[in-house]
Amino acid sequence: PSGAEPATKIVINLERLQQLPAEKVGPLARYAATIQSQRGDYNGKVLSIRTEDLRSLAIIYDMTPGELTEQLIDWGVLPPEARPSKEE
Ligand code: C2E
Ligand code: C2E
Ligand code: C2E
Repeated sequence: PSGAEPATKIVINLERLQQLPAEKVGPLARYAATIQSQRGDYNGKVLSIRTEDLRSLAIIYDMTPGELTEQLIDWGVLPPEARPSKEE
């Protein structure tokens, strides 16, 4: 197999997300804020979201879930451990 694969466990770094420019992370930041609101979960430094949510976000960013995973790791919003191990 080749190409980026989607993250298995999605734990967003909310502090990092806040540091990034809105034109890059706007849709993701709004999505995370909505989930926080729905859960009443405002005090965390991180936010666990559904795998299904990554698929929705990938559509919004016009990427595959794997490509979005790589982008989020690049931005520091997901830790490198979120990258599924690939076969060499
Ligand atoms: P974990 O999943 O590795 O999460 C570690 C810590 O990251 C959590 O410690 C919490 O401080 C933070 N965290 C992760 N996701 C979120 C989130 O969506 N919102 C917020 N506010 N914080 C988050 P915590 O709460 O002491 O939980 C320790 C462990 O207990 C978790 O480790 C997990 O294994 C388990 N746990 C806690 N809540 C749940 C849950 O709703 N479902 C499941 N399956 N396990 C949970
Ligand atoms: P819901 O999807 O009907 O889920 C109702 C409750 O089931 C949630 O209440 C939560 O306690 C539990 N639940 C459902 N799926 C999971 C899961 O994968 N892990 C864990 N730990 N619990 C789960 P809660 O958290 O108060 O959320 C209320 C409503 O807010 C949810 O109703 C859903 O409509 C929305 N929501 C909250 N977080 C998310 C999210 O991460 N993604 C999406 N798409 N919706 C969310
Ligand atoms: P988690 O709580 O450890 O749940 C791991 C996986 O178990 C979820 O992956 C989902 O596939 C399944 N699962 C857990 N609870 C439910 C449930 O009530 N209904 C269904 N249909 N499946 C359930 P998923 O969806 O990728 O979610 C990953 C993590 O995101 C969850 O880990 C939890 O930390 C968080 N999360 C997702 N939805 C909610 C929610 O509605 N409320 C809260 N508080 N946390 C959520």
